[in-house]
Amino acid sequence: MNGDSDRGGRNAPHEDALAARTEMLPLEELVQHPAGPVTLDDREGVFAHSFKCASCQLEYVVMSWRRSRHRAANTYCPECGEVTEKMHWRACLSDSQELVTDGTCVEIFNVVPAGRDAELIDVPKTG
Ligand SMILES: [Zn+2]
Repeated sequence: MNGDSDRGGRNAPHEDALAARTEMLPLEELVQHPAGPVTLDDREGVFAHSFKCASCQLEYVVMSWRRSRHRAANTYCPECGEVTEKMHWRACLSDSQELVTDGTCVEIFNVVPAGRDAELIDVPKTG
């Protein structure tokens, strides 16, 4: 049996190997951004911040235009509802500082995996 229940809370071998290859990001990179949404003026590219929560093992991805806005030290686990210890991988999908909609660069809307069969279940309240 190779399910999660027999792993004893430890990473699978491929996860350990991946973690060993992952560059540890200096905390100085954690640049505090002013409150509020990231705007096009703030854009550094398209980044996929992948996390694995050490408490509940949830794996999730935060897509951002900012390289270092989301770090383990300031990102809430959606399941735990708090900032937890976690693994963090970062991939740069585009280094374009401009929003490119002609298909020549990866944009967040190209990679968010909602799919056309996804059901819209929440919408923001409008003011
Ligand atoms: Zn968690």
